[in-house]
Amino acid sequence: MPYYIPQSRFISLIERKVCMAEIAVLRLGHRLPRDERITTHVFLTARAFGASRGFYSGQTDSSLEKSISSISENWGGKFPVAHEPSPMKLIRKMKKEGWKVAHLTMYGLPLPEVQPQLASAKKLLVIVGGEKVPPEIYEAAGFNVAVGSQPHSEVAALALLLDRALQGKELERAFDSNFGGKVKLEPSAKGKKIRGR
Ligand code: SAM
Repeated sequence: MPYYIPQSRFISLIERKVCMAEIAVLRLGHRLPRDERITTHVFLTARAFGASRGFYSGQTDSSLEKSISSISENWGGKFPVAHEPSPMKLIRKMKKEGWKVAHLTMYGLPLPEVQPQLASAKKLLVIVGGEKVPPEIYEAAGFNVAVGSQPHSEVAALALLLDRALQGKELERAFDSNFGGKVKLEPSAKGKKIRGR
């Protein structure tokens, strides 16, 4: 028998308030112009899939910060992005404040193996690598996490880790009126429905 979700129920599911862990994402070694697009995608993915703030090391990039902030202004939610000249200092500070630290690397332990620990974290810092990740990052991380054992994209690795850590709740979270924003999507079986707020 086909499974049918009435439109009204579907919307109320989407607008449900969802309680989630606090997640921050640290992107290492941002390089201009090479990483402009990929770092932007790292933060857009982080924001859309449940993280609440971003940090990046490497070159400062005001247009990266502006483009994330303009997405949040239009689509709702706050996702501050800050440049961090010393990632190790930030990691040590956050660990002292009780954050668990997961570093995405294909050399790490398989994601399904560490999922229970990630899912139980109240505050989770996810580190996304860049060109060359120094050994001290591997040492400092509570978990070095591999999303499959092949090299691929930081964006794909981050999306899967967030989904496993938040156990799908990030897809139920509403960017509703409490999040501000100028526009909102209405789920639609066909076509595109966008309304202003
Ligand atoms: N060497 C490349 C460069 O010059 O830009 C970048 C390497 S890789 C695409 C960048 C990051 O993606 C890694 O540091 C890691 O955080 C993430 N990544 C790639 N494959 C991964 C995997 N299988 N598991 C977990 N993370 C992965």
